[in-house]
Amino acid sequence: MLVLGGGSNVLFAGDYDGLVVRCQFREIEVLRLAGGQVEVIAGAGLAWDHLVGYCVDRGWSGIENLSLIPGSVGGAPIQNIGAYGVEFSCCFAWLEALDLQTGRLKRMESRDCRFAYRDSRFKADWRDRFLILRVAVRLGPTEPVFDYPSLREELALGDVNRPTCAMVRSAVIAIRNRRLPNPALVGNAGSFFKNPVVDTERLETLLSADRDLPAFALSEGGYRVPAGWLVENCGWKGVSRGGAGVSSTHAIVLINRGGAEGREILALAAEIEASVQARFGIQLEREVRVIH
Ligand code: NAP
Repeated sequence: MLVLGGGSNVLFAGDYDGLVVRCQFREIEVLRLAGGQVEVIAGAGLAWDHLVGYCVDRGWSGIENLSLIPGSVGGAPIQNIGAYGVEFSCCFAWLEALDLQTGRLKRMESRDCRFAYRDSRFKADWRDRFLILRVAVRLGPTEPVFDYPSLREELALGDVNRPTCAMVRSAVIAIRNRRLPNPALVGNAGSFFKNPVVDTERLETLLSADRDLPAFALSEGGYRVPAGWLVENCGWKGVSRGGAGVSSTHAIVLINRGGAEGREILALAAEIEASVQARFGIQLEREVRVIH
């Protein structure tokens, strides 16, 4: 059995030989908490961005940086979606899921889910074990987070120094619309590759050959290198192989220009991986879930 959310992080390499289940719960419930905080409980089948818009329209701050991320509410904890300096786990309160092994409902809190960078327990030993039904986030009258460089630059264009959550949402939508192809218009699964992490020694070797290479120090050690930069610098941005291609606005996104089959996208991904390995000595890992 395959549990599918919005399908926005999935590539089908062929037909799936089994039952595909999609949760369609889309209701929203709001609990008022002390200090002007709210707990917003949303059905897992609701479009994630619908939930963000609903909260921002009411002035509830916390998830505005995650505007326009495709997919469903139920997918948010699985991927621990993140963007522009905020990740889902920051606002997560609890979720309710059906244990497909025992048939029982289970309520989970943050410590159960083992959230990490774009990762959770639902992608490890709990993969395919639970059908997430409802997700609760805790939001409040907090100041929005806007220190992520591209977000700050976008806000500065409008002379905004102290943005509201609605201003942050508008800025994020503007950046994403410029850089990331809309999956409703051009088939894509968001970031196709994970951003690799390298150690200091590897980084020094890379920098000695490419002084412009961006790298971000991580608190847990190592440096994150943007996969999009590596792919772009191997000359792939905007390239097509039949209907399969690399976005011309962001090289981390592989797109279906029309008629490409899953295996053609995978063949293109393999070519890209080989060229990044040959030029930088880095083996890219796929972020997209491939269904064979
Ligand atoms: P970007 O700003 O070009 O950054 C590319 C990479 O560099 C990201 O991994 C980002 O880390 C990292 N980075 C940039 N500035 C940083 C800083 N000051 N400190 C530490 N790390 C920094 O990103 P983008 O590709 O256009 O995407 C914008 C945001 O949306 C990013 O947060 C990205 O993760 C998110 N996004 C996610 C997906 C997905 O499918 N998972 C798809 C598109 C975009 P972070 O990833 O920690 O931000």
